[in-house]
Amino acid sequence: MPRAADQLAPSGTGMNGMEPPPDIFDAQALDLEFWLRPRTIEVVRPASKERAKLLYWKDGEIIESAYQDLCHLLRDVNGGNETRTIDPKLFETLWGTQAFVQRYGIDAPLEILSGYRTPASNQKLREAGVPAARQSLHMVGRAADIRIAALNSEVLGGLVKSFRQGGVGFYYRAGPRGGWIHADTGLQRTWKG
Ligand SMILES: [Zn+2]
Repeated sequence: MPRAADQLAPSGTGMNGMEPPPDIFDAQALDLEFWLRPRTIEVVRPASKERAKLLYWKDGEIIESAYQDLCHLLRDVNGGNETRTIDPKLFETLWGTQAFVQRYGIDAPLEILSGYRTPASNQKLREAGVPAARQSLHMVGRAADIRIAALNSEVLGGLVKSFRQGGVGFYYRAGPRGGWIHADTGLQRTWKG
């Protein structure tokens, strides 16, 4: 079983330095047409080597089977492999982030480093020294740690933050990909970890 520390290590394959002007990466500039589009999200889970591209929302409604598949993909791959319902609002942020950068030619899957975590799994991470809050929103299906290969953490986190959907944690790390971003649907707040 891959340990969390391994999956968080930079893989050395990412591109770097792709930093468009900040004003482009502002989700508040999106028009209604963007939000009415069918929502297809492409995710990979480096820890379990899974990959999927799913149309999960269309005509104002969640497509239940695809949504369940997404929840399964965000399951606790490091613990007991448990699946939990994931807050649809989180998928809105994740899809929005991916769809936003696609408009600028960045067609990379969303890497999910961590989605749902069982309390035991969360505790294990804490004991291993991986940043994890005691009352983590990961444990209630309302948080994900993400990365997009072509974007550094600052650009990705800035974009996620601009959706104003919840908390954003910036985890800068050395290496080609420069870390990851925690996104949740809790109170709007930002931090660096
Ligand atoms: Zn997190």
